[in-house]
Amino acid sequence: MTREQFERDYAKIVPAFAYRERNGVGIYTIPAFSAYPDIDHGFSARTGGVSTGCFSSLNLSFTRPEQRDNVVENYRIFCDAADIPLDSMVMDHYEHGTTVLLVDRLDCGKGYTKPELPFCDGLVTDDPEVTLITGHADCMAFYFYDPKRQAIGLCHAGWRGALDRIGTEVIRMMRVGCKSEPGDIICGVGPSICPKCFEVGDDVADEFEAAFPQCDLRGVNEKGKATIDLWRVAAAQFLECGVRPENIHPMGVCTYEDTRLYSHRRDKGRTGGMAAYLRILKKS
Ligand SMILES: [Zn+2]
Repeated sequence: MTREQFERDYAKIVPAFAYRERNGVGIYTIPAFSAYPDIDHGFSARTGGVSTGCFSSLNLSFTRPEQRDNVVENYRIFCDAADIPLDSMVMDHYEHGTTVLLVDRLDCGKGYTKPELPFCDGLVTDDPEVTLITGHADCMAFYFYDPKRQAIGLCHAGWRGALDRIGTEVIRMMRVGCKSEPGDIICGVGPSICPKCFEVGDDVADEFEAAFPQCDLRGVNEKGKATIDLWRVAAAQFLECGVRPENIHPMGVCTYEDTRLYSHRRDKGRTGGMAAYLRILKKS
């Protein structure tokens, strides 16, 4: 893909999100995903939970130094507000890698009431008994839905995973595991650090430029430091796989700037985590 082709496709991608609260729990959604009655999805805000201090209040991360009981209770509150069956959750076990696992109802509870899955940053299923859950605090969530095959995918895409094309790996797993065709897949991107706020060292910026030559992703901020546009990196890997530009739906919400969200970078690591979720509601 040339730079001209990429820019032509990227111009067709329009960021959009919706936000609602129930019992104080905030949920971000992608309008294009909400239009499909066969799935439910969302991304948690930090409001409405029981955690205090820097974890205040809906911390959904088990990997941060907080009492496990609080996080367990926050999941109960969150699932109630988002209408997720508590025993349907299957959680990622991220390592900033590109491992994607195909999961089903036998995995329900893993990472919550049962031991974690092996290391994996991405999950794919076509089982309506399963709710896919991934954890975030600046890192992108990629959502995937194939309406034809009734298959879904969700992944944690930090800068390392995005650079290594975790999105491509999820689409590959949907092809292999669920017979999905990229031309049928709808993609979304959750709240994450925006192009303006994601400052990187020159070495990292160089890596991105080498990996995605089709895409004008490097900027410079007011301090003269390099920035990287991870939202373009997301779109670039979806388009490379054959996803149609009109099927790519970033929320366009920045975790660093939106105070309803945890930001690992803004809060200098002393913060909680949010959860992305995606599930099939019924088989048509
Ligand atoms: Zn920002």
